[in-house]
Amino acid sequence: MRIDILTLFPDAVLAMMKESIIGRALERGIIDIRAHQIRDYTKNKQKQVDDYPYGGGLGMVMNADPLYNTWKHVIDEVGHPIHTIYLSPQGAVFNQAHARRLVSDYENLILVCGHYEGVDERFIEECVDEEISMGDFVLTGGEIPAMAIADAVCRMIPGVLSDEACFTDESHFSGLLEYPQYTRPAVWHDRAVPEILLSGHHANIAKWRHEQAVLRTKAKRPDMYKEYEK
Ligand code: SAM
Repeated sequence: MRIDILTLFPDAVLAMMKESIIGRALERGIIDIRAHQIRDYTKNKQKQVDDYPYGGGLGMVMNADPLYNTWKHVIDEVGHPIHTIYLSPQGAVFNQAHARRLVSDYENLILVCGHYEGVDERFIEECVDEEISMGDFVLTGGEIPAMAIADAVCRMIPGVLSDEACFTDESHFSGLLEYPQYTRPAVWHDRAVPEILLSGHHANIAKWRHEQAVLRTKAKRPDMYKEYEK
């Protein structure tokens, strides 16, 4: 999969994406994440990307043109239409189901990061297929949501994690939260690891983990459990 991120802060985005598991997948060529500086696609000397809002009001709005030029550059380079997502507090709130759909439906994604008061509505009308939010709160920019989406999507691409079970067993994949996890030492601060995990009996361990997943989903996320039971 290739993900192109349109942003005013490409270095910050790539610095983060080049770390750890996603970074290694990038190095191995399993995924391709590129960040494009919107400022490079302005046609004015000052490389200005924003202006005052029509109708008055506080703050600045990102101009449609530099965003469009950056978006068009990526489309032309790739050579076909690309599903384009604008990160926005007005979008549908992102979850694991979105991540699964994006992985299965698209080979390419464009993620557009707004800033200031947001972007000229006409760019959204013309170029955006979907708006996604990180949650019901407002951030200063779309970079953190874009990185979160890229990470959640990329870790489900075959070869990025060592085994598919790394994500199919995890919280949210099957509608439950994950069971509790432990590592060495077997006793820490007088707290012992549940004995069953030391038994080596794989079937019993799997049964115990499922029970724990159900119990903690009921306790921590009763809303999720209600959906799981349906
Ligand atoms: N004026 C906008 C509004 O009230 O809907 C908020 C603009 S926000 C300060 C600037 C940028 O941050 C947005 O264009 C968007 O790209 C990003 N952003 C802010 N909150 C977000 C959220 N919850 N999810 C995704 N992106 C968000």
